Amino acid sequence: MYPKRLEVGNKVDICPKCGLPVPACVCGEIAKTQQQIAVTTEKRRFGKVNTMISGFDDGVNIKDIARQLKIKRACGGTVKNKVIELQGNHKGHIKPILVSMGFSEEQINE
Ligand SMILES: [Zn+2]
Repeated sequence: MYPKRLEVGNKVDICPKCGLPVPACVCGEIAKTQQQIAVTTEKRRFGKVNTMISGFDDGVNIKDIARQLKIKRACGGTVKNKVIELQGNHKGHIKPILVSMGFSEEQINE
């Protein structure tokens, strides 16, 4: 029995953006959508400012995006009605994080 499988079996393309095997990758799907993501700030009680990130399509995992944003910005936050709300003012920092997740700069208004 010639181990033919070893020669060709390991060739799985890996997405350079997310590091997932291409069949499991959703970067292309994200790029394909027409979603326009807006980053705004809102004043809360006691002079606190929260950062709102809205405009996500149904196809994206908002909770996962929120989780990563909270880790990268070391802040608290919630997801309500497809809007991510981060505690504190993170304007100017959100776009590069979303771009690293596979969103394109053109679709993010920050
Ligand atoms: Zn990917």
